[in-house]
Amino acid sequence: MKSLKENFSKIHILIIGSGIIGKFNALELSELGFSITIIDPAQHKNSSNAALGLLMGNMYQRRKGRSWDLRKQSMELWPKWLEFLKCFNSELHITKPLIQLTTYEKTFKKLEKFINENNDPDLKILDRDSIIIKKINQAFATKDIKGMISFKDGKINAISLLEALDTYLENKKIEFLEDEIIAIKKVKKQWIAKCKSKKEIKSDIIILCNSLNTINLIGHISHNIKLKPVLGQAIEVGINNAKVDLLSLPKQFNINGKNIIPVSKDKLILGSTDEYTSTKPKKNIFDELTNFLDKQPSWLMDGFITKKWYGIRSKPEGEPSPIMKNLEDGLIICTGFYKNGILLAPACSKWVANEIKNYFS
Ligand SMILES: Cc1cc2nc3c(=O)[nH]c(=O)nc-3n(C[C@H](O)[C@H](O)[C@H](O)COP(=O)(O)OP(=O)(O)OC[C@H]3O[C@@H](n4cnc5c(N)ncnc54)[C@H](O)[C@@H]3O)c2cc1C
Repeated sequence: MKSLKENFSKIHILIIGSGIIGKFNALELSELGFSITIIDPAQHKNSSNAALGLLMGNMYQRRKGRSWDLRKQSMELWPKWLEFLKCFNSELHITKPLIQLTTYEKTFKKLEKFINENNDPDLKILDRDSIIIKKINQAFATKDIKGMISFKDGKINAISLLEALDTYLENKKIEFLEDEIIAIKKVKKQWIAKCKSKKEIKSDIIILCNSLNTINLIGHISHNIKLKPVLGQAIEVGINNAKVDLLSLPKQFNINGKNIIPVSKDKLILGSTDEYTSTKPKKNIFDELTNFLDKQPSWLMDGFITKKWYGIRSKPEGEPSPIMKNLEDGLIICTGFYKNGILLAPACSKWVANEIKNYFS
């Protein structure tokens, strides 16, 4: 009797879109033995390349429902995938912990309530007496910051992750096409995807991982799927103050919703904006990204942008993020990840793999 892997190798799956979601699906499915083609005309210009790589799973404050289940599952799967992917990029790791801070008493009370109710040893309150908080308050010239620390959450370098996946896909000789799919249709039991170059690709299954453009390929009215763009910008800021050593601060933290990642003694990353109005990045975002305290420390206000970048996230309208559905026989949508595509990639590719296994069983 033939093994499951041998049977799966005859099944051809086309993955449209090669961001983190397309690549992770390719990894999961290729490990199961399926024959994969992945297609993307511009894989280095997507939102995955702009991501800060924060994995905010365990600190999610709703401990039931689909969003929590996906986060929980991803946090459980990440160590296994990391171990696997380290063979393809030895630098890949998750830097822990992750710290969420606030200057608002009401928000802090909510954090306290969440921690007291959940009794999770991986979450702790950071009040004014904690050494970490003392350092942060001193650096930001305030007394008002406090919050929580999550020992399970952290940060992965999104670019290193994408590179590790690329090396894996290359080693596995997975077909990658640099082209754009402009239409898909089903003819008898096969899917036919038409490329901009006029080439046609036949497959048994199509997985749509092409973010906002998914809508152009499906009858979105009949499927009632709506996605809107939310542009996110991040900046690297250089500071000129010999008294401040940014490396003495935690490796990644968040104050009043802005993520802060010190990268050297005198440079930090700040992100991200939420721009709903245009798909062109707003100019002059320094004030917006540094405006997370009533009064900013002078070293930050005197800082200067050394790098900036952006990505366009896709946010579902009228339903929660992400959208993972079986649209028709052999047509799966896995997109609309908004702010959490890096975090959720392992759980979502597992969901897709299970759908496909069920389809053929
Ligand atoms: C500034 C910023 C910071 C972020 N920080 C974090 C973070 O800290 N943690 C986190 O978890 N998430 C973060 N995110 C969100 C995360 O980046 C996204 O959720 C994730 O990248 C979505 O991945 P994706 O593969 O669905 O989409 P994308 O990465 O956008 O990839 C979609 C791909 O589809 C391709 N495509 C489009 N149309 C077609 C077509 N017709 N044919 C073929 N290919 C096509 C595109 O070229 C593109 O490469 C951040 C996002 C931004 C912008």
